[in-house]
Amino acid sequence: MASPVTALVPAAGSGTRMGSELPKQMLDLGGAPVLARTLELLERAEAVEAVVVAAPPGGEADLTARCIEPFNLSKPLRVVAGGARRQDSVAAAAGAALDMGAEYVLVHDAVRPLAPPELFGAVLAAARRSGAAVAALPAVDTIKQAGGSGQVERTLERERLWQVQTPQGFALAPLLEALERAGREGFTATDEAGLIEWMGGTVELVEGARQNLKITTPEDLRLARGWLAGAYGPVRVGQGLDVHRLVEGRPLILGGVRIAHPRGLLGHSDADVLTHAVMDALLGAAGLGDIGMMFPDSEPAYAGADSLDLLSEVVARLAAEGLRPAQVSATLAAQEPRLMPHIPAMRQNLAQRLGLDRGMVNVAATTTEGLGFTGRGEGICALATATVAPAPTSFPARGPRS
Ligand code: MG
Repeated sequence: MASPVTALVPAAGSGTRMGSELPKQMLDLGGAPVLARTLELLERAEAVEAVVVAAPPGGEADLTARCIEPFNLSKPLRVVAGGARRQDSVAAAAGAALDMGAEYVLVHDAVRPLAPPELFGAVLAAARRSGAAVAALPAVDTIKQAGGSGQVERTLERERLWQVQTPQGFALAPLLEALERAGREGFTATDEAGLIEWMGGTVELVEGARQNLKITTPEDLRLARGWLAGAYGPVRVGQGLDVHRLVEGRPLILGGVRIAHPRGLLGHSDADVLTHAVMDALLGAAGLGDIGMMFPDSEPAYAGADSLDLLSEVVARLAAEGLRPAQVSATLAAQEPRLMPHIPAMRQNLAQRLGLDRGMVNVAATTTEGLGFTGRGEGICALATATVAPAPTSFPARGPRS
């Protein structure tokens, strides 16, 4: 790439308007930080060929670990130290883009993960025509200008008002010049187009999108979650049920935990009845049949298989369908042994393979009061319910955060 069109993402803000100790770009949006969602969007935007992210100074490694490393991002990407103001972060990122050979850049807010990918191409085309361009929406609300005491001073002419979004596209050379001069003269603009205007340049308006919202309050985050959920249809739920016989001379493995007991579960694989029920629930939620179809007993490769490895295969199968596990709740029915002490380790094992926080994976255990085959100790039964959520295929399952 001779001069890669480079997205600049100022993400150095520590804004805590959200009432959370995490800056807003680090809050969870459907299983990934908002910034990771934004980077994934840039991955899908064809017009973007490289990316520079401005991190809080000293926070480069943390940002990389949370928002970049866990995800399959293939475009050239650089993380630089940002600054106190947005403008300083954009200046740092623009400098890196120059090093990377860019002639055109697309500045995009870290907290606008829902922009339509094709908007970047439209803004770039306008920037190539006019030198600078911004995504914006015609104002729909009447906008009034207030005086000092909260009283209306005047009503603005709505037909000429636009609400500005990002991406904002620029020829890099004049943007760098504007940033440099603004730095020298102590001028601060609330957006990069404002710098070009200040320099007397032309900025073209490109119709943006209503879904391209800027996540700055808890309400915005709820809207964004709703938008994501709405875009992918209803919640998908699956159930799983499995039973294995208890026999002498077999290890007892539940949720990947080997439990000391005179008897273990009989089966073709390691007979981990809990993990089997979880796999069936996931496949059920995804409409992908069941584990008998995916891992037939007749297949010698699965003899003695570690069921946690099979679970990883199920998660990969879901990912190939654009889905990820969202939540799992399972119950074991066993008269003995006492399972309670082993449950934290089971949850940990399952959560790790599912790419979920432990809080999203519950395991309960009950006896059946001596009744039925479980009560007589002839076998162990497991039930599981799972929900799955959309996951763009470039989002692999994550490991647990802790
Ligand atoms: Mg089974």
